[in-house]
Amino acid sequence: MSHENIPQIPDLGQRTDEITIYAGPCSVESAEQFDEVAQCVKDLGLHWVRGGAFKPRTNPHSFQGLGEEALKIMRDAGERYGLLTLTEVMDSAHCDLVHSYVDGLQVGARNFQNFSLLKKIGQVTADSHKMVLYKRGFAGTVAEWLAACDYISDCGNDNIVLCERGIRTFETATRFTLDIAAVPVIHKQSLFPVCIDVSHPAGQRDLVPSLAKAAVAAGADSLMIEVHPNPPSALSDGPQQLTPAQFETLVGELRQIAEVLGKRIV
Ligand code: PEP
Ligand code: MN
Repeated sequence: MSHENIPQIPDLGQRTDEITIYAGPCSVESAEQFDEVAQCVKDLGLHWVRGGAFKPRTNPHSFQGLGEEALKIMRDAGERYGLLTLTEVMDSAHCDLVHSYVDGLQVGARNFQNFSLLKKIGQVTADSHKMVLYKRGFAGTVAEWLAACDYISDCGNDNIVLCERGIRTFETATRFTLDIAAVPVIHKQSLFPVCIDVSHPAGQRDLVPSLAKAAVAAGADSLMIEVHPNPPSALSDGPQQLTPAQFETLVGELRQIAEVLGKRIV
């Protein structure tokens, strides 16, 4: 199937008037579940759908993801709905496999300083220049983050998006402390676009809209938001995922803020 109706992926440094939203479930659980979110994303005029195939779970007995089956579900939905797809790659051994199925590869917080994985991802994407969404680690500084980008770019791909997803502090009222200042700090020091993952720092869905509005207002180039058709039944991160209806309402609010800033949500 062709990707003709799928939007072009922007290259390094192309900060535009567009704020990209990467929305989708924490874990891909079934074709039906993923399709429902993809339909919602498409109906809202957005371009990217995310989902977890290989899940980095704290407890080895928790759901680990559907692996290649999830990648097939994502590719199939991406083609049918005309959406770009994004998923995490946890292991160097999976880089080629994941790269063959999706449009964007995510490095998770737990692999922030897994330098052999960063190099492997850079090598695997060197020709395709597929987007690498590189998340900040729980305890990573901005300087460490920017330095480690070179592991990816030196291997041939500088199509990197830096994703702030909250850091560990003494505060326990939220799952992680969102470092909103990372947006202007990185914009001063680097040409890479900055994404704010608003779901993982929130940990609870009622906090997600405030963090998302703050991210747009702070100048984020993109947002990551977890959406699930039925969050109470989710196999991972249920408490923080929005329903499609809640997501639709939020996107409407974000579009109003973006308009004030002369930007567009896509
Ligand atoms: C995720 O995006 O589902 C995820 C596991 O994120 P993080 O690596 O930020 O915890
Ligand atoms: Mn998650």
